[in-house]
Amino acid sequence: TCRWCDPEILVRPEACRVRRTGHMVDGISNPEICYSFRPPAEAGERRHVCFPIIQSGSVGSVVQLVSTVEDRVPYINVYLRETAPVLETKRLMESLRDSTLRDPMTGLNNRRFLEEYVETLVASVHRKHSHAAILMLDLDYFKMVNDTYGHDAGDAVLKALSNVLKQSVRASDLVIRYGGEEFLIILLDSQGDAAIQVAENIRVAVEGLKVQVAGIVLQKTISIGISDFPTDSDTFWQAVKFADVALYQAKEKGRNRVIRFDTSMWSDSKDY
Ligand code: GH3
Ligand code: MG
Ligand code: MG
Repeated sequence: TCRWCDPEILVRPEACRVRRTGHMVDGISNPEICYSFRPPAEAGERRHVCFPIIQSGSVGSVVQLVSTVEDRVPYINVYLRETAPVLETKRLMESLRDSTLRDPMTGLNNRRFLEEYVETLVASVHRKHSHAAILMLDLDYFKMVNDTYGHDAGDAVLKALSNVLKQSVRASDLVIRYGGEEFLIILLDSQGDAAIQVAENIRVAVEGLKVQVAGIVLQKTISIGISDFPTDSDTFWQAVKFADVALYQAKEKGRNRVIRFDTSMWSDSKDY
C-alpha cells in the first residue's frame, strides 16, 4: 500500500525513485526530490524518506517513512539494511513452499522440501537445545485397496489420510509425503514421550477414519515408527532411518501400532 504516492507507482515501478535508483530518497532534506510523492493538504509539514531494501542485488521492497523529524533517519537506514537478509530468508522460506516442494495430490510438502529445509531445522533444534520427534508412517496392506477397488479409491484414502495427519499436529510441525503411501511427521520442540501420545492419537484417528468412494466405505490402519533427534542420533538422516527401523518392527509385530525406536532394534537388524 502507498498512502501518499501517486498510485501509478504500484503499476509502473520505475515511477518510484527508490526502485529506479536503488538509493534512499530523502524528501526531508530535498522536499521536491520525488514527483510521485503527493501529500494531501492535511499532511502539513510532513515529508517523506524512502528506503530501499536490497535483496539479491535489487530493490526487493521500499519502506516509506512520513515524518516531520529527520534525526532518526540514519538509524532507520541502518536498521533496514540489517533487516534485509532476514526478510530475504523469510521470502525464501515462502518460496520453498512452492510447487516443486509440494505434492499436488495431498497438498503436503514432499521429500525434496525436507531435503531443502533440513539444515534450518537442525540449526533450530541445536540453537534451542530442543528435540524433534520423527514419526515414520505407512499404511497397512494398502496395495490391497488398489488391487481390489482401483487406483482412484487408493488416492481417495491417501487424501483423507493426509487431512487427518494435518489436523493431528500443530501448525509448526511438518507433515511430509515421503513416498507413495509413506509419510513423515516431524514434531518440533518435542518433549519426553509426548510424541508417542501424538502418534497413538494419529493411529486411533486413522483407524476410525471412514473413506467413502464409489458407494463403498474403506477403513484402513497405519503403522508408525518413532525416533528422536538428536537423542537417538545426532545425524538427522540417521534418526530418520531409525524411525524407519521402528516402523519395520511395527509391521513385523502385526501392524496398526506405534513403536518407539531403541538401539537394540538397530543391532538386531543390521541386514535391514
Ligand atoms: P504393508 O502393510 O506392508 O505396508 O503393505 P502395503 O500393501 O501397504 O505395502 P506395499 O509397499 O506392498 O504397497 C504400497 C502400495 O502403495 C503400492 C502402490 O501401488 C501404492 N501406492 C503408492 N503411491 C500411491 C498413490 O499415489 N496412489 C495410489 N492409489 N496408490 C499408491
Ligand atoms: Mg510402503
Ligand atoms: Mg504400506
